[in-house]
Amino acid sequence: MSDFDYDLFVMGAGSGGVRAARISASHGAKVAVAEEHRVGGTCVIRGCVPKKMLVYGSMFAEELGHAENYGWDIEGKSFDWKRLRDFVNNDVDRLEGLYEKTLQSHEVDLFAERASIAGPNTVKLASGREVTAKKILIAVGAWPAMPDFPGVEHCISSNEVFHLEEKPNCLMVVGGGYIAMEFAGIFNALGSEVTVVNRTDRILRSYDEQIVDRMLHIAMGRGINFKMHSKIAKVEKTDDGCLLVDLGDSNPLRVNQVLIATGRKPKTDGLGLENAGVAMDEKGAIKVDEYNRTSCQSIYAVGDVTDRVQLTPVAIREGHAFADTVFGNNPRTVDYDHIPSAVFTQPPLAGVGLTERDAKNQYGNVKVYSSDFRPMKNMFNPHAERGHYKMIVDEASEKILGIHMIGPESPEILQVAAVAVKAGLTKQAFDDTMALHPSMAEELVLLK
Ligand code: NDP
Repeated sequence: MSDFDYDLFVMGAGSGGVRAARISASHGAKVAVAEEHRVGGTCVIRGCVPKKMLVYGSMFAEELGHAENYGWDIEGKSFDWKRLRDFVNNDVDRLEGLYEKTLQSHEVDLFAERASIAGPNTVKLASGREVTAKKILIAVGAWPAMPDFPGVEHCISSNEVFHLEEKPNCLMVVGGGYIAMEFAGIFNALGSEVTVVNRTDRILRSYDEQIVDRMLHIAMGRGINFKMHSKIAKVEKTDDGCLLVDLGDSNPLRVNQVLIATGRKPKTDGLGLENAGVAMDEKGAIKVDEYNRTSCQSIYAVGDVTDRVQLTPVAIREGHAFADTVFGNNPRTVDYDHIPSAVFTQPPLAGVGLTERDAKNQYGNVKVYSSDFRPMKNMFNPHAERGHYKMIVDEASEKILGIHMIGPESPEILQVAAVAVKAGLTKQAFDDTMALHPSMAEELVLLK
């Protein structure tokens, strides 16, 4: 008989926590999970999944325009935000149910309440009950970081954007990262007037600058307004429910919603970490070693709460590696090199490996191959939007250091190209591969 109630207590049923719970249970551990919101976490409930569905929903606006050019008459077309919103949220409910079933089928006990650390092997639930476990895994994720200005309480974050009563006619988006650019694209496509307010003139900082410039050019062509080097001084709510946004420069802007997307911070407030000596960094992220172990021997952490790479597949790998290491007798670490990523703007952009600037800084002599082309799909696009693919190659070894692209379906194409970059292939390997014609992806084997 164990001295503890459980072998493993997982705090947080998001992507990392659920994977860790399921795999640990399959290794024979007795597992419990506590979740204060909904099973599925950010990705499933208020992130990647519903966002991508909104992207798909919003893309019909453009596709319907193309359809008419291809000979289809579509009479009486109109858009109903509530129908899209409810369809998306119903699917989120379905996925939440599937996640719960996964936990049940692995005999993981679920506590639908907040948990905090009471000691190295003790968790305190919101109900007051204390539960002990041989190991504790903190997988509570991150939360939108809201800046401090008068009237910020009138603004929304990505948590609320999926539940809006009305589609905003006029939307301000604050920030220049993933969430800002993706929602600017969604609401622009749905017909809202969108203004992006960014504190510098750089957006999507980690992506290749040329690709981002193309994205900006296309976004402006589609009517998204950008106010660079700007920040909100205050927001006031008017009697008719609109928001007056003072940017400190000219007349206040009148909008229906202000979406704040200025990063996400680890959700460590009030978690009781001090009760077990779990150390954090200056940003409030839990410090872990390569095996996800915190400064307390019995407590581990994975996912956004550790602020290593805030991406779902990374949290899942970390959760899996934790379970194999601690309960599967198979110590494993996560390889953080060459993580592909994408921004689901319209069109989307995607990248893997080093950007041109980083490659030049690290390797000195690099070759850049590119293709700047008009996708056949865009034949009827009134703005003549062009795709751009880039491959960065180390001149000495001829190995590919990075691939970056913008254009329709680029995340789908990049995922496969990332295998080649990860495998250390050279540009010659791409040149040796026959083109698949006609496709956009063939540009990758025809780069000059
Ligand atoms: P990001 O880190 O992507 O971007 C934050 C943006 O806000 C940057 O432009 C940053 O500017 C700006 N900013 C930061 N602090 C302030 C401030 N105090 N005032 C004004 N502007 C500020 O964060 P997001 O919130 O967009 O997304 C959070 C995370 O979620 C991402 O890092 C990503 O890992 C993940 N995510 C991934 C997606 C995907 O894979 N497609 C989609 C959505 C989210 P600066 O550059 O100057 O620092």
